[in-house]
Amino acid sequence: MKELGIDVRQTKLRMVSGVGEGWAESYKRKVDSEYGLPFMTLWGSVEPGAGAAECEQRRGMHIFSDLFFLEVIDPETQEPLPPGEEGELIVTPLLNEAMPPIRYRLGDVAKILPYEPCPCGRTLPKMSMLKERVPQIIKVKGKKILPIDVEEEIASTEQLAADYQIIVDKPGEQERLNIKMEYKPGVKDVRALRNQVEETFNRDLGIESEVELIPVGTIGRTTVKAQRVIRTYGKT
Ligand SMILES: [Zn+2]
Repeated sequence: MKELGIDVRQTKLRMVSGVGEGWAESYKRKVDSEYGLPFMTLWGSVEPGAGAAECEQRRGMHIFSDLFFLEVIDPETQEPLPPGEEGELIVTPLLNEAMPPIRYRLGDVAKILPYEPCPCGRTLPKMSMLKERVPQIIKVKGKKILPIDVEEEIASTEQLAADYQIIVDKPGEQERLNIKMEYKPGVKDVRALRNQVEETFNRDLGIESEVELIPVGTIGRTTVKAQRVIRTYGKT
């Protein structure tokens, strides 16, 4: 809409619903402030048919617990974790007939929030926002980094566009994080911006990074799931 010169605030759009991946809080706030629209997250999973959605309070997502039973486990030990602890989501749908998986491992990282009544009046329990998928975790010198951590940093830098790619060129632990990011039109000193971003990563995430800045639109939009982590090793 921006590219077509349409002022979002003049349209009848009332909210933005983000489905699919985890969304960085700073990205959501950016949509809120740039377009004046509340950004509500909707989480769903195709295979077992599970879901949750934010209400107008926007403090966690209400789990559709009348449709499925949700648990959180430690992905390594596979032991169940109590509410408030982050782990891998597993789900048992209660109504599925054709494909009724039991304790299906979703690979999504989140936590169930300790129960408390929501001011919106809904009584469904809540879960945290998603933190991407377990296989998405990248180890950089002992630190666990998720694409959403990178997204937080990008969204808080005014001159950067939203798209990015993390390049992982060898298995196991990485010495530094290689990231391709897009800068917005009007950026004059790309090198200074790159230095600034690398310093921010070092300060906020405690890791070394190697940032490659490319003009906006280079990475290309994907329609379903954005490919945030590109693994270039092991291919012939
Ligand atoms: Zn609510």
